[in-house]
Amino acid sequence: MADISLMKLQARGKVRRFLQSQFRKEQVHALVVQRHGECNRCGECCRILFRCPFLRSDGNGGHLCSIYALRFEQCRHYPIQPCDLREVESCSYQFPTGATADVRARASA
Ligand code: SF4
Repeated sequence: MADISLMKLQARGKVRRFLQSQFRKEQVHALVVQRHGECNRCGECCRILFRCPFLRSDGNGGHLCSIYALRFEQCRHYPIQPCDLREVESCSYQFPTGATADVRARASA
């Protein structure tokens, strides 16, 4: 059975990331430079709410984007901020505590 709470969280996250990537590019940059780690190609972010039609298996348990060079801005930057990690079971990126608050404080200064 579908987890309605998770689906609502994912739907809001998808819309927010799209809007941030289109209209808050400086904020997105300030947030993503704070994250640690590297993508392990698990493909979980490409299955948020629905499976992306461009998601492909790499044949070794990992995943690839079939339009990688042309991928959407919100895909390019995932995860943008700590709360994005709540939408997937696991992601190899991490954020330091207070990452979002720091950026918002600087933006309003
Ligand atoms: S969920 Fe995280 S680790 Fe997995 S593919 Fe997406 S960005 Fe990479």
